[in-house]
Amino acid sequence: MTQTFDVIIVGAGMVGAALANGLGRAGLTVALLDRQTPPAFHADETPDLRVSALSAGSEAYLERLGAWSRIHAMRLTPYARLSVWDATEHPLSRLLPPGRLRTTFDAAPLGRNHLGHIVENRVTQAALWDQAGSTNTITRLTPVDIDSVSESGEGVHLHLADGTQLQGQLLVGADGAQSAIRQMAGIGVTRDQYGQQALVASVRYAGAPQDITWQAFHPSGPRAFLPLHADGDHSWASLVWYDSPARIAELRQLPDDAFLAEVTRAFPADLPPLQALAGRGSFPLARQHAKTYASGRTVLVGDAAHTINPLAGQGVNLGFQDAEALQQLLVEARRAGLPLSDTALLQRYEARRRPANQRMMLAMDLFYHAFSNRLPPLHLARNLGLALANSLPFARHQVARYAMGIDDRLPAALQPLIDRVPRPALLR
Ligand SMILES: Cc1cc2nc3c(=O)[nH]c(=O)nc-3n(C[C@H](O)[C@H](O)[C@H](O)COP(=O)(O)OP(=O)(O)OC[C@H]3O[C@@H](n4cnc5c(N)ncnc54)[C@H](O)[C@@H]3O)c2cc1C
Repeated sequence: MTQTFDVIIVGAGMVGAALANGLGRAGLTVALLDRQTPPAFHADETPDLRVSALSAGSEAYLERLGAWSRIHAMRLTPYARLSVWDATEHPLSRLLPPGRLRTTFDAAPLGRNHLGHIVENRVTQAALWDQAGSTNTITRLTPVDIDSVSESGEGVHLHLADGTQLQGQLLVGADGAQSAIRQMAGIGVTRDQYGQQALVASVRYAGAPQDITWQAFHPSGPRAFLPLHADGDHSWASLVWYDSPARIAELRQLPDDAFLAEVTRAFPADLPPLQALAGRGSFPLARQHAKTYASGRTVLVGDAAHTINPLAGQGVNLGFQDAEALQQLLVEARRAGLPLSDTALLQRYEARRRPANQRMMLAMDLFYHAFSNRLPPLHLARNLGLALANSLPFARHQVARYAMGIDDRLPAALQPLIDRVPRPALLR
């Protein structure tokens, strides 16, 4: 027997599950599928290796979906300050006024008590999954193995390996960077591998959670600290160390004690004394963009459509913006009596999201190229840039508002810089 829905979403990651909730709350019938059931949250577990800095914009969106209070009830860590600086050792650094090389964004002058929250990915996913389970227009199906996808005048048809057949008006690929739905729809990607990888480690330190997240830029890549929740008299943090694949492989193989000693040696003095390591893992970094966001009755959201360098932690924030834009258009279409797979509607979705996603990719490339080298003129220029940002609170506030997801455009003053970043063919 075939089960029929308005929308079938493949991928119950953070983005797919958010979209399901948005559509389900608006009265559309949704099937939310994943190849694995999202794990339930347990308060005594050590932190998930994958964490995300969720912007104020994402917080407001998750609140509209009814999921934020669930995240709050599990665990999250607010941060009120965000600090970045150039850690390259260079004689030219002496030409710059000491103390001016660090740019710190602060929530207080923006009239807020936090800039964002660090949340473990599995917490966000579990909150959205549970919220979907309490919405009667959403059917959750896990674990699924998709055999084939086909289209007819009636709709899109999914055949699952266990014999289940599903039909929908629209199929959403929210199945991540390696999206099978994207491949089945024949949508290609442009892809560029960065020369760096990211090693992520969950570490414990003494004292209460710090209210700051920071990132020091080294020529081999940034080193970042993201505060996590308290655990008795201790607190957890997520550290990210970007470096060459060879260096990351070396770091991964060190015994725990030697690894912590190496982190302590290599990270800035701002790092609190470390006590324990709960886990570490590494991720390759690639910028990838689908050549089109929609084909026939299939449309892509989140990492299935685009991946960016995570150095400013914007990937899932962009994915949430995709999900909300698509939700608005689909709900409008339903009200207007239009088919949900209407070509003009899917083109409007792409027109709304592609330029914003591309802008963020270019901004990340600006940082990547400007900081991942030792060239003296660039060293001086980027430090002057940071010093300038420090002395112009207005510019700093604008950048902070963009990073928080309050404004969706970069400050105009930064656009000429971004226009000068070398662009691979894929971004033109
Ligand atoms: C080191 C690192 C740090 C990052 N830090 C940040 C940060 O601070 N802030 C931020 O915003 N972003 C960050 N990101 C990016 C962020 O993690 C991703 O953008 C986000 O996870 C994408 O969510 P998604 O739901 O689109 O895809 P995914 O999280 O990849 O979810 C895809 C889902 O689809 C399911 N699936 C896959 N294939 C199938 C299939 N064939 N059938 C059924 N189900 C399937 C999977 O099981 C999964 O549940 C970081 C990324 C990295 C690598």
